[in-house]
Amino acid sequence: MSVTQTIAFNHQQFDLAIKKQCRYLGFDNPQQLTLAQWYHALSQAVLDLSYCESKPLASEQRHVNYLSMEFLIGRLTGNNLLNLGWYQPVRSYLQQYQIELTDLLEQERDPALGNGGLGRLAACYLDSMAAIEQPATGYGLHYQYGLFKQSFAEGRQVENGDSWSRNQYPWQAYNSGRSCQIGFGGKSKRLDGDKHQWQPALLIKGEAYDLPVFGYQNGVVQPLRLWQADNEQSFDLALFNDGKYLKSEKQVVDAASLTKVLYPNDNHQNGQKLRLMQQYFHCACSVADILDRHFSQGYSLQQLPQQQVIQLNDTHPTLAIVELLRLLLDKYNLSWHEAWDICNRTFAYTNHTLLPEALEQWDQRLFKRLLPRHFQIVDKINSFFQQQVAERFGDDNEVWQKVAILYDYRVRMANLCVVACYAVNGVAQIHSDLIVSDLFPEYHQLFPNKFCNVTNGITPRRWIRLANPNLADLLDRTLPNSGNRDWARDLSLIGDVEKHVNDSGFREEYLKIKQGNKQILAEEIERSLGLQVNCEAIFDIQIKRFHEYKRQHLNLLNIIHSYQQLKDNPNRDYTPRLFVFAGKAAPGYYLAKNIIHAINNVAQVINNDKSVKDKLQVAFLPDYRVSLAEKIIPAADISEQISMAGKEASGTGNMKLSLNGALTLGTLDGANVEIAEMVGADNIFIFGHTVESVRALLQAGYDPKSYYKQNKALKSAVDFLTKGKVCGGDKTMFRMLLDSLLQRDPFLVFADFDSYVAAQQQVGLRYQDQQSWLSSAILNTARLGAFSSDRSIRDYQQRIWLPK
Ligand SMILES: *Cc1c(COP(=O)(O)O)cnc(C)c1O
Repeated sequence: MSVTQTIAFNHQQFDLAIKKQCRYLGFDNPQQLTLAQWYHALSQAVLDLSYCESKPLASEQRHVNYLSMEFLIGRLTGNNLLNLGWYQPVRSYLQQYQIELTDLLEQERDPALGNGGLGRLAACYLDSMAAIEQPATGYGLHYQYGLFKQSFAEGRQVENGDSWSRNQYPWQAYNSGRSCQIGFGGKSKRLDGDKHQWQPALLIKGEAYDLPVFGYQNGVVQPLRLWQADNEQSFDLALFNDGKYLKSEKQVVDAASLTKVLYPNDNHQNGQKLRLMQQYFHCACSVADILDRHFSQGYSLQQLPQQQVIQLNDTHPTLAIVELLRLLLDKYNLSWHEAWDICNRTFAYTNHTLLPEALEQWDQRLFKRLLPRHFQIVDKINSFFQQQVAERFGDDNEVWQKVAILYDYRVRMANLCVVACYAVNGVAQIHSDLIVSDLFPEYHQLFPNKFCNVTNGITPRRWIRLANPNLADLLDRTLPNSGNRDWARDLSLIGDVEKHVNDSGFREEYLKIKQGNKQILAEEIERSLGLQVNCEAIFDIQIKRFHEYKRQHLNLLNIIHSYQQLKDNPNRDYTPRLFVFAGKAAPGYYLAKNIIHAINNVAQVINNDKSVKDKLQVAFLPDYRVSLAEKIIPAADISEQISMAGKEASGTGNMKLSLNGALTLGTLDGANVEIAEMVGADNIFIFGHTVESVRALLQAGYDPKSYYKQNKALKSAVDFLTKGKVCGGDKTMFRMLLDSLLQRDPFLVFADFDSYVAAQQQVGLRYQDQQSWLSSAILNTARLGAFSSDRSIRDYQQRIWLPK
C-alpha cells in the first residue's frame, strides 16, 4: 500500500486560479459573481489545478477498461473537493466572500447520464478503482440529453428533456488527440482467401470528453472518457461520391443525433436502430482507444490480455468483442485462432438481470445492414460454438435452441458474451446462483469455471461523507483514525461502531443526527410539495426506478389498507408514518406510470384528510436523481426493498439506506439476503415468498383473483382505487394497474400482501421501543462495512482481473 499523497491545496495558487476564471467570465472581482457563476468558476479552477499533478500508477498492473453505456455520476464539485481533500480549505476560502460552500454546490445540475442502479454502480466503481489505485479508464457516451426530468401534472408523470448543458459543463475537457472515425453500413468485401474488408457507407467522427475521477486523498486522477458523435465531420461516402450532396446532408443530421439522448429504459430493451448504432459507436471508439494506449506503451498485440481487461457492464457493450475480433482479423491479419484466443482472454461480462424482457436481442437483418462485417464474424463464432455444443450434448436441438447466439433471426447478446468472455459474474450471491441454475445451466456445464459472483457495493465517500456529513463527523470522532486508516478509506473499520452501541453518549449523538436529517428532509418536502410532515413519524422510504418487479404497488396497497383501518377506527394503536416515494418510470412503460399516478392520487386523498393528520402521510418527491437520493437517504428509518424474490439482481439502494441507519423491510432477494446475514435477523424485517416458494406457487398455478375474493382487506384496498376522490369518479383511471393485478399479477403482489401487512405491523410495534430501534439502526451502520464498493473492486481483482 502506498503512502498517502494528496494533491496539496495552495491558498495563493487557488486564489489566482479563481481570479483568472473570474476574468474569463468578464468580471474584475469575485464579489461580482452570481452563485451559479461561482459554482462554474470554482469547478473550473479546481480542475485546472488538480490536473497538473497526478500520481502515475504502476503500468505493469493490468489496466481495467470499464465499458458502460451509463455512468450516473451525480454532482461532481462537492465529491471532487472531498476526494482531493480540499473541501474544508475551499470552504474557508469562500467565507471571505460570505459564500456557503453547500449553497454553491446546490448550483450544479446532476449529469444524469444513466437510468438507475446499473449506471450508479459504474460511478461507484470508478470512485473505488481510483481510491484503491487500480489503474482504470471508464468509457461511456457523452449524451446531450441525460435521463428526462420528471414532474407531475394532476398526479401523472410528465417528462421533459434534461439539457445538463453538456457544452459548458466545467468538469470536462475536450481531448482532441483521441478522435476517431466510426463506420456504419456498406458491405463486407471478400479479398483473397478468407480475408475480408469492411467498406462502410457512412463515417461518423467520435470525439472524446474526459472527466477526472479523483482517488480518495491519494493523488490519483484517472479518466472517465465519454464519446460524442460529431456532426460536422460525418459523411455519407456513397451519396457524396455520387454527387448527391444534398441528400448526404440529411445523414449528417442523423449522425448528430447519435449521442443526443440516453435511452430511458431500465431493465427493458426496445430494439431501436439508433440504440444499436449508439452501442456500436461506444464500442468502436473505446476499442480503438484501448489499442492506441496499449501500443503507445510499447506492448504487442499478444500482450493485450496480460495488460488489458475489458469489463462489460451488462450486454450493452457486447459489440466491443466483435469489433476487436474484426480489427485483429482484418487490420492486423491474425488467424481466427489467434484472434479468438486474444479476445477470449481479454473480455469479462457482468450480468445484471434475469428478466427476459431485459436480455438484449437484435433483429438479424437490422444488425446485418448496419454491421455487415460484424455479422459475418458473429455467424462464425456461432458456427464454431455449434460444433462445440454438438460434441458435448449431441445434436440436441432443445439445448441448441437455448444456447445459440444466432437463432430465429435474432442476435442474442448475452449468449455471445458468455461464449466469448473468460468470466461471467452476477452481482449478488443469490443472483449469481440463479444465473447458473436458471438462466445459463447448459453454459455452466460447458464452462464451469467461467461463472462467479461479485456482490455490488457503494462508495462510502459519496454515500456517507458527502451525503451525511454529521454522521461522518461522528464516525471520525468515534473510530480510531490513525494515519491513513480512516473508515472512508477502509469501511471494514466501521465494524468498531458496534463497540459503542451501548454507549449512551454515542447513542444520543447518533439519534440526534438521524432526527436532524429527518428535519432537513421535512423542509425539503415542504419546499417541494407544500406538505408539512410529522418528524416523529417513521420515515418509510421507497426510492428507485418504477418497475412492476420492484412492487411500489404492494407498498401502495398497504398504505391504502392502513388508511382504511384508521378510518374505521380512529383510535386504534398506530405508529405514525410518513411514506416517501421517489422514482421515474420509462416514458413508454404505461403500467408503471399508472402506478405513479395512483400513488400521487392516494397521497392527495390521505394528506388532505384531517382525521389522519400526523398519523399517515405520503410524499412523492419528483425527479429522483443522485442529488435527491443524497437528501433522502440520511433521513430514512425504513428502507423498502420489496421486489418479488428472484427478480432484483442486487440492488444498491438497499446498501445506501442500511449504511445510513435505516432498517430494511424486504424480501429475500438480491443483496437483501447478504444484508440480512450481516445485520442479523433482529435488525431487519424479512417477509414474503422466497425464490423457492415463488417457484412452487407458480407451478401449482397462481390465481390472483382467488386472493382478491377471499381476502377482505386486500379486496377493499384494491377497490379503493375505483372509488370516490382517488379517481374523481373515473373508474377506468387505474384500470391498467387493476387489470394487471386481477388478471395475471405477474409479480405476486396479492400473494405477498398479507405477509407484507404483517411485517409493517411489526415495524410499527418495534418503533414504539425507541431504544431498541436505535440499537438496530446503529447496528445497521456498524455491520455494513462489507458493502463498500472498494471491497467489490478487490473481489473483481482477485476473482476476475488477475492476469490471464
Ligand atoms: C442507488 C441508486 C439507484 C439504485 O437503486 P435501487 O434501489 O438499487 O434500484 C437508482 N438511482 C439512483 C439515483 C441511485 O442513487
